Amino acid sequence: MNIATHPFDSLMNITARPPVVFVRGEGSFVWDDSGKRYLDFIQGWAVNCLGHSPSAVAEALAAQAKLLLTPSPAFYNGPSLKLAKALVDHSCFDQVFFTNSGAEANEGAIKLARKYGALHKNGALEIITFEGGFHGRTLATMSASGKKAFEPLFEPKVSGFPKARLNELASVQRLITDKTVAVMLEPIQGEAGVWPTTDQFLRDLRELTSAHRLLLIVDEIQTGIGRTGKLFHYEHADIAPDIMTLGKGIGGGVPLAALLATKAVSCFEHGDQGGTFNGNPLMCAAGLAIMQHVASPDFLKSVADTGLYLEGELQRISARHGLGEVRGRGLLLALDLKIPIAGSIVTQAFDDGVLLNAPRPDALRFMPALNVTREEIALMIDCLDAALTKTGAARRVA
Ligand SMILES: *Cc1c(COP(=O)(O)O)cnc(C)c1O
Repeated sequence: MNIATHPFDSLMNITARPPVVFVRGEGSFVWDDSGKRYLDFIQGWAVNCLGHSPSAVAEALAAQAKLLLTPSPAFYNGPSLKLAKALVDHSCFDQVFFTNSGAEANEGAIKLARKYGALHKNGALEIITFEGGFHGRTLATMSASGKKAFEPLFEPKVSGFPKARLNELASVQRLITDKTVAVMLEPIQGEAGVWPTTDQFLRDLRELTSAHRLLLIVDEIQTGIGRTGKLFHYEHADIAPDIMTLGKGIGGGVPLAALLATKAVSCFEHGDQGGTFNGNPLMCAAGLAIMQHVASPDFLKSVADTGLYLEGELQRISARHGLGEVRGRGLLLALDLKIPIAGSIVTQAFDDGVLLNAPRPDALRFMPALNVTREEIALMIDCLDAALTKTGAARRVA
């Protein structure tokens, strides 16, 4: 029976959403059904790496849609082979398994590590993860996450994820036992509020895991595909992890994610892993269009440059309003507000036509399109400046 009284009521109410409906997007801008335009520094949560509805993705989807949607994962298809080859050619990994979401890719990474432990490490199955980490919303990935708010939910959790502290090698060392098979982390903790690992910590972690014959798993769902100015974040530290997961930006706006592993670790046997839509040619065609743009050295250089520009502008705003540090790398940055006013800044910016994200009550996160222009950054900065002034909570330095 239809008891809904408002169109919004027919959707499960899983998060607080502003009462507007988005109908169209182009580059850094998106429009609602009243015709109001918003400058988007969320971009589907760091998903639309070339902005809203880039022609490269739209055209790849349209062409593939007319050709072949899905032959079933029991058969090969062209786009998935080409995309897998592109990912392997541009990374330290040898094989790819495509998934439909980041959580599913991480779920696969957890299964692969446990399989590896069963085959090569006497049944070792524990994966050391980190306080504050976020790996998704399936039961296993919620269990792997170190998000406090998840702790009381959906018990019993999946066991086997002891938590270490980011950038504290000794905290990892202490948790290593005969049962440990892997260490898994985000190179920058995105959902927790953009907390970067140091390159030195990543190098130390690689050394430690290698010494104990443990797998190093990097969750690059938010940091991968050019977001930090390198195609993959692990390149900054000049290390070679054993397993990597990708999501968000890899599809440029469509549901696509991936699990990558080195040859030595890629040990799934028939029946271990699969999924109806996994590696379907439609989504892989979009992924291929994204890789063709984002993997170019010139493009990655422009992301790094734009990231430094945005970082400088945020530092200027911070100094002017007496706020805290700017964290992150490339175009994944956070501004620490020092006081819990992020929610009101987001609301004010929304009213003024700018989409911003508050991962914590005292921080704003910026994840614009990787091809965002300096003019668009200037527009956002003006709006942020005004919002900080208007909330009246901004503290000027004397
Ligand atoms: C978004 C995210 C995920 C989950 O991806 P979904 O596609 O939402 O399932 C996992 N890990 C990290 C680091 C993420 O940012």
